[in-house]
Amino acid sequence: MRDWTAIAAALAPVEVIDDPMLVKKRSRDFFWFSPILNEQLKRRFGDLVAVPKTREELAHCLAVANAHDLPVTLRGGGTGNYGQAVPLLGGLIVQTTAMNRVLEIGEGFVRVEAGALMVDINNALRPRGWELAMFPSTQDIATIGGFVAGGSAGIGSLASGALREPGNIRQLRALSVEAVPQEHVFDAEDALQIHHAWGLNGAITEVTLRTVPARDCVGCMATFDSYADCYAAGYALATAQGLSPKLCSAVEARIVGYFPKLEGHLRQGRHLLVSLLPSSDLDDYRALMQAQGGHVDLTLTEEQRQAAGLPHVFEFAYNHTTLQVLKSDRTATYQQIGVPDASDVDSIVRLEQALGDDVWQHHEFARLNGTVVSFSLPIVWFTTEARLREIDAICESRGFPVYDAHCFHVEGGGLKNADYRHLAWKKRMDPKGLLNPGKSRVWDDIRHLEPDEIDALAGRTP
Ligand SMILES: Cc1cc2nc3c(=O)[nH]c(=O)nc-3n(C[C@H](O)[C@H](O)[C@H](O)COP(=O)(O)OP(=O)(O)OC[C@H]3O[C@@H](n4cnc5c(N)ncnc54)[C@H](O)[C@@H]3O)c2cc1C
Repeated sequence: MRDWTAIAAALAPVEVIDDPMLVKKRSRDFFWFSPILNEQLKRRFGDLVAVPKTREELAHCLAVANAHDLPVTLRGGGTGNYGQAVPLLGGLIVQTTAMNRVLEIGEGFVRVEAGALMVDINNALRPRGWELAMFPSTQDIATIGGFVAGGSAGIGSLASGALREPGNIRQLRALSVEAVPQEHVFDAEDALQIHHAWGLNGAITEVTLRTVPARDCVGCMATFDSYADCYAAGYALATAQGLSPKLCSAVEARIVGYFPKLEGHLRQGRHLLVSLLPSSDLDDYRALMQAQGGHVDLTLTEEQRQAAGLPHVFEFAYNHTTLQVLKSDRTATYQQIGVPDASDVDSIVRLEQALGDDVWQHHEFARLNGTVVSFSLPIVWFTTEARLREIDAICESRGFPVYDAHCFHVEGGGLKNADYRHLAWKKRMDPKGLLNPGKSRVWDDIRHLEPDEIDALAGRTP
């Protein structure tokens, strides 16, 4: 048994939270979107929360963890979906939200502390004419460090690609877990050694990201009689020459029925295309929607949105779509499914027919390496894990890859395979393996190797 009172004392002057209810709350993220993860993770709690205010305080937390061999889980806003921020083996939770300063705004970049909320960064950028190149739909409560460590894309990715694409992350700084934690600087492509590693291989202190010129955007909602038409209109908008949408999401009518805040604003029972685009694109957007057989139900500038008391359009996109359904019915869940050819509407219709009534369609359009892609985040009405895996198998057999949203290993979802570059850096930055233990399926098998030997495994499938 560890003496947590002594550990809290050793952490001084860092603020700690030891109230058991609060520690339990800080041990959770949005894993409950998955009934499978909910069963696996709902009883996993940390022992103590530290809330450092500076990089020096964060370094002190890591030094104390190293001295006492404590598992350490970094936590930003705790909005991850796969239990990324759940302390599987208990221990110390380090919440970064008090390290939240915007340090520098320059031509096309912003440098911030890792615990800054993305909404605050955008609010600091806009008066200077900039905004983040992309942000998740959770921007109001999620941190930039959590996005870089746990996220992948978001609003803006239709223009700027995924977070991992060259130029989007300009620099990351991260602390090691050692007797005297060292700060390492990862520039440009090297930032990928730390990006999306779920806090396994270093505690990110500072992030420098690409910004883009801020534009007055209009949130748009168009409705369609069939999902095929809605999806096709989404693809047409995403690929239209001369238009610059930041968001384009197709949502089938049965899901839209779970959006009470939009009641009275949309034609009833129709499939919905949600978009965010510069106001200068509005006329062309209207013409395109009409040509695609759609009806533009709602267009809102930011001022109009606020006056109408409506949520941001992106709260009906990405995983907020699932959240809207879960607010009414906890038997809903979702899956993450790639689309092999975004232009092939027929294959999407055929897959929908093969899947049956317990899978409701929702697609996001984004740009990957310059090409418009789509991926699906459908609502799945959960009955059993066997049925979920049957759905996965139907998708995979038709060439639609599944990036499992119901797995708490970093190798399970987006990555699919082990990222040995991440793990080589884990060996360098966290030789005792204290950071977020249990989240890598392969770490225990390779932790005895030297970093260069782990690097050499890259390219091999575990
Ligand atoms: C409704 C909903 C919608 C979402 N939409 C999107 C979306 O559009 N795009 C998207 O990519 N994701 C999305 N997500 C997932 C998540 O919200 C984002 O990835 C978010 O950016 C995570 O930030 P956070 O501060 O909440 O991170 P947390 O959940 O606190 O942490 C995420 C991971 O990062 C690690 N971490 C946190 N801070 C640090 C640090 N300083 N150093 C090292 N590791 C750290 C944690 O240990 C954890 O493994 C969504 C989730 C929900 C519930």
